[in-house]
Parts: sequence; C-alpha cells; structure tokens
Amino acid sequence: MFADVIIDISVKSLDRPFQYIVPEEMEFDVDIGSVVKIPFGMGNRTMTGYVVGLSGEAKFDISKTKSILEIIKQGVVVESHLLSLAYWIKENYGSTMNDAIKSVMPVKREIKEQIKRVIYPAVSMDKMREKRDEFEKKHNKARVRLLDEFLKLDKTAYNAGLDYSYATKKLSLTASVIEGLRKLDIITVDAIQQYRNPIGNIDERPEVRPVLNREQKHTVDSILNDYIRDVRGTYLIHGITGSGKTEVYMNIVEKVICLGKQVIVLIPEISLTFQMVNRFYKRFGNRISVMHSRLSAGERFDQYTRAKNGEIDVMIGPRSALFTPFQNLGLIVIDEEHDSSYQSEMPPKYHAREVAIQRAKMVGASVVLGSATPSVDSYYKAMQGEYRLFELNERAGNAVYPSVYIEDLREELKAKNYSIFSRRLDELMRDRLEKKEQIMLFLNRRGFAGFVSCRQCGEVLGCPHCSVALKPHSVNGRVSYLMCHYCGYKIQMPDKCPSCGSLYISSFGIGTQQVEQMVKKRFPQADVLRMDADTTTGKNAHENILKEYSKGGADILIGTQMIVKGHDFANVTLVGILAADLSLNSGDYRAAEKTFQLTTQACGRAGRADKPGEVVIQTYQPEHYSIVYAAKNDYKNFYEQEIVTRQMLQYPPISNILGVLVLSENERNADNLAQILADKMKLYQDVTVLGPAPAALSKVKDVYRRMIYGKCADYGILCSIKNSFEEFMHETESFRDCRLNFEFNLI
Ligand code: ADP
Ligand code: ZN
Ligand code: ZN
Repeated sequence: MFADVIIDISVKSLDRPFQYIVPEEMEFDVDIGSVVKIPFGMGNRTMTGYVVGLSGEAKFDISKTKSILEIIKQGVVVESHLLSLAYWIKENYGSTMNDAIKSVMPVKREIKEQIKRVIYPAVSMDKMREKRDEFEKKHNKARVRLLDEFLKLDKTAYNAGLDYSYATKKLSLTASVIEGLRKLDIITVDAIQQYRNPIGNIDERPEVRPVLNREQKHTVDSILNDYIRDVRGTYLIHGITGSGKTEVYMNIVEKVICLGKQVIVLIPEISLTFQMVNRFYKRFGNRISVMHSRLSAGERFDQYTRAKNGEIDVMIGPRSALFTPFQNLGLIVIDEEHDSSYQSEMPPKYHAREVAIQRAKMVGASVVLGSATPSVDSYYKAMQGEYRLFELNERAGNAVYPSVYIEDLREELKAKNYSIFSRRLDELMRDRLEKKEQIMLFLNRRGFAGFVSCRQCGEVLGCPHCSVALKPHSVNGRVSYLMCHYCGYKIQMPDKCPSCGSLYISSFGIGTQQVEQMVKKRFPQADVLRMDADTTTGKNAHENILKEYSKGGADILIGTQMIVKGHDFANVTLVGILAADLSLNSGDYRAAEKTFQLTTQACGRAGRADKPGEVVIQTYQPEHYSIVYAAKNDYKNFYEQEIVTRQMLQYPPISNILGVLVLSENERNADNLAQILADKMKLYQDVTVLGPAPAALSKVKDVYRRMIYGKCADYGILCSIKNSFEEFMHETESFRDCRLNFEFNLI
C-alpha cells in the first residue's frame, strides 16, 4: 500500500503530495488524515507529514520510494482532517496546496499566545518575612523589593500572587532576580493563559424564548429525529424572512450540543455577527464564540485554541469560521445560504456551502442550510432529493409581508421627474419622516458617481493599471478625488480633461455617497446614516452604525447590500430600492437570481413588528420576472422560470462551467498561452469551449487577464482539464511569467 503525504513545510516546490510506502505492520493504522514521520530530502531529514490519499499503485520507481517511519497516534488530529479538506479543495477548485492550506488554517502557528505570568509565594508569610530580613542583611535590595511587595498584602491577595510584568516593570526587577528566588523555592512562576474576548458588548437583557409554531416544530423534530438515529444529511430550510429560522437553528444546536458535539454557524458577512451573536449568547452563554477577519491575529488565535481545547461549543462567523478546528464537529448551520459572500473570491475559489458539506461528510456531521431565497443550486438539489427540504411559510409573531410598489423609472422621466426618487417614494418618505418612523434606502453601488468623463471628447477617466473607470469620491459634498476600486490608485479630481483640455468633465451615475447628499438636500429635516464599504472600515464600524440606527439615532439608513441582509429593525416601515437594475445588468448568469434575492431581502426589512411596511422598487424593467416575483414574495414561480433558463443555456446547476483565467504581465504571452489552452480544451468531447477572450477586467495592476470557459455536465471532466493544465504549467518552460486561476461555476 502507498500513501500520498503532504509535507508540513511551506515551500513552493513541495506543493504536492509525495508518495511513500506504507510498511506492512502499519497498514491497519494508517488512514487519510494520519500524521506520519517520514524521511525527506537528500540528508534524509525526518519530517512530519499528513496522509491525504491511499492507493495500491506505485506512481514512481518503487525502488526509490521511501517508507513511512512512524505513525503519530495522538495529537494533531484536527489539523490532519483540515489538511485532507484542504487537499479536497485543491483538487476540486484548483489552487496550489499552499493556498488551500492557508484558507483552511488561516491562523499562523507562530502567533504567540497571550499569556499572563504570575509569581506565587512558595512559602508561608512568616517564612517569607524571615527570608526578607536575611536578604536585607546581605544588602540584596532587589530581592527585598519583591518580598516586601508580598508582605504588604493580606492573606488572600498574598496567595493570589503578583503579576510578573508588574514585578519587572513597576518594581524594576530583572528576570534573573526572579529566577534566583524561584530556585531558592521561595516563589514559583506560573503562566495563565488569558483569552482576549472577541464578543465585545453583549446586550444583557434576558431572552424571551418563544414557543415554536407548528412548522418550526416539524422542522426541528424531523432533523433531530434523523440526528438521534445517527442519520446525517443536508437539510434546506426555505423560510420567508421573519419566519423564525434562527429560532429553529438554535433549537437544533441546543440538542446537538447536549450530545457532546460542536457546532459551526456560518453567517454571511461581518455586518451580521452582532445580532446573531447576541441571540446565541443569550441562549448559550460563553460556550459560544466568534471568529472573523476583523479580529486581531491574537484574538483569532485564542478562539482557535479554545475551539481545539473543547472550551466552546458553537463558533459563529463568516466563511472562514468553517475551518474552526473542532475535534468533535456534529453540525454546520449556514444561514442565508444563498449569500455571495460564501463564495471565495481569492484562489482557491471554493464555495463554503460545498466545502461545508464535504467537511461534514468527512467527520459524520449534518448540514442545515437556511434562506428566504435559497440559491437556485440548493433548491435544485432539494428538488432532486439530494437535500431534504423544509418550508416555513408563516411569519413568526404577527408581522405581515409589506405592500410592494414597482415604480417604472421611464414613467418618471416622462413626467419630468429627474430626481432619483420616484414620486411615490418621495411622498412615502415625507409621510414616514412626519410619523417618526424609519426608512431604509438601498443602492447596490458604493461611493459617489459611477465614473467621470469628458462631454467634449468622451474620454472616461480610467486607472492606468487596471482596465476600469476610476470611481469619484467626495469630501464635503464635492467630488474631490478619484480612486481605483481594484488597486487603490488615487488622484485629485482634475479640473480639465487630461486628454483634450476641455473644462466640461463631470460624473455620471450615482452611488451611495451621492444618494446621501441628495437625501440631505431634499429632506433637510432628516438625520441620515450611511453604511457601505467606505463607512465601515473601522473595527466596530458595522456594529456602531447598526446600533445607532436601531436605537433610533437616524431617520434614514442609506446603504449597499450590506443593509438588506437579515437585520431586524422594529421601527422601519419603508424601504426604497433605488435602482433594481444595477444587479440585473451585472453580466453574470446569476443576475436574475441575485436581483430576486436582493429585492426579496430588502422587502423583508420593512414592517417586521407591529407596524405594517411598504416597499418601493424603482426600475427600468418593471416586467422582469425577478422583480415581479420578488414583489409577490413568490420564490417557487421565480425558481420555475429561472431553472428553465438555466436548462436552455446549459448553466449551473444543470451543467458546470470551468473558467480558466490566464495572468501575465506580458500581453503576448498571455494571449499565446490562452490560445494553446483553449485548443487543448477543445480536444475533450462533451465540452463546449468559449474564448479565449480578454476577461471582463482585462488588466489589473498591470497584469493582463485572458479568460477561457469550458461547459460540461460532468464536473469530473472539468477537474481533469484543470489537472492537465496544472501539469502543463509545471512542465512547460515557455510560460514561466504566466499564472493560471481556476473558477468553477462562476462567471
Ligand atoms: P428568520 O431567521 O427566519 O428571519 P427569526 O428567527 O429571526 O426569523 O425570527 C423573527 C422574529 O420572530 C424574532 O424576533 C424571533 O424572536 C421571533 N420568533 C421566532 N419564532 C417565534 C415563535 N415561534 N413565536 C413567536 N415569535 C417568534
Ligand atoms: Zn487600478
Ligand atoms: Zn476631453
């Protein structure tokens, strides 16, 4: 038997498994995930490795293949199962093993734990006094200083010890003085691990625990019934916003914890952590924790350690929390499973939902997906019987779906309304401001105008390093600088056209920043808050804006998609979607799906409590099915129409698409390589090849980008194309300056 082993070292050339012989006496003990000692390299150094595959076939000359020396039985089990997962990610999405390992183990091991050292007395107070006098006679001032400090304390404080850093800093004692006293057995020095608290300010009011309604109870009972009988699976809960999905998750989580298992709860984005954590904290106390990218490296390391040591039961967080190193993982919950933030944008471009299902399979856990607007992919799998589907159709409590108006922006122009607010939205906003109820305005574009161009010569001011328009940003209401959102390149807003010198240059299109200004101008009486990528760069910015708004600190909240997801504001009775078309024209095969999701979610933000809500959707395509069905909150009809479109065009989930992105600073090489790869792809039967063509962003940071797409029903064939391309890049000498990125089912 042979084992594929990943060596535990970060060197690019070692970025693949090496084959080792499994000695006969180890055959029963070695498994995928085993940690082994192996000889490696010229000097036959002994290294640690992780078994990621087993086979009966030798890949190389067997006389040169080395044997595994030893299987390490206890210890880093979690790491090895996460490594097997990394290997799976690499194989299924294409990336280097190193990148895959980095996604799976985001916390570097070198980060020092935050340890508090404490000096404890090892002798009674009387003995200590005796010693002190001895040292004084010997003029040993430093020792006397420390012992005096102890002798000042009362009995309890004496036994609780002194802070080590207090002794070194405040008492100016050197480490060797302390060490000397320790050797004399007068004191001991101990390290206490201190965890940095990542949860922050928790709302301490006790929770009111609702009685589950019929649908909720059926869902909880069915999933738990499977669980108790050791049946594991993937479940999809389709429940309209406010139907009590979170309540369902918490009931399932509670039981799974009781069985001694651990749980990961994934939520879309950092902006959601606060509310979700709050609710979980109220129920489960400090057996929960959070892990996300805004925590400091130290805070993340602490959470990582606590999870591994079994000190917490539930980890809540966005995508990266999926890799929490629980030893005994029993359940993964993915809230808002359709959300695009579960898709990794960096290689490996994995989808957290798929990886979660894989991790669950590896360790015998179940997966619960929930959404008001399930991804077409998940719903399709549920229809195929791969996932078990539950529907929650009643809104928990007494909230009702809002009244939704679709406003045709072409009609507004005809009526000579040039404002960004349709007449209806304008009127409703005035009404709400009068009634002191809150308003949310949603626009899926951050910053200021879309772009700046010259009316004389038509020049669009673009980034010199990327093939995109620079985005205007304003200070004090005027466009003051232009910035590239891809590379950060920044210039002052010029006062004349850099190409023809004309003074007629100005911005077109609007972003959240401009909406804010227009709102302030039109409704000067209103207090306005804005939430988008630009206003939320600080560590607690999301939380602070949401808190401020939820306690009534502003009448209007303007924002990008981050405001429409899952927030629960009782006093919001009007939601305005300023331009539903932005997502509809995104050029993605999921454009309609995204528009439906965003619009439905935005509708879910209005009228959650006792006051009925209203929603205004502004669009140039009022008859588009994604908007019409979103307004009616009709997922099924949307799905039926969408899946027919996917079928017709052979898009996922019906078929699969592999995108190969060719990157190089040398444009000619990028073009040549893209052509060669496209020709290779055409040799595969059943694969439809598109391209090569310049990518939508044809240049970023001076790197040229070419794209080739292959469509095929069989995911495995696309994987083997990816493997053969990786192999080709490994062997060829001609394209050393080129890199490949792979994307599965993304456009
Ligand atoms: P979702 O996650 O589907 O949006 P939530 O679980 O957040 O729904 O529930 C929405 C609101 O209804 C919350 O305030 C929640 O406490 C409340 N709620 C949930 N289930 C019930 C129930 N069975 N009875 C009364 N209120 C409920
Ligand atoms: Zn740029
Ligand atoms: Zn010009």
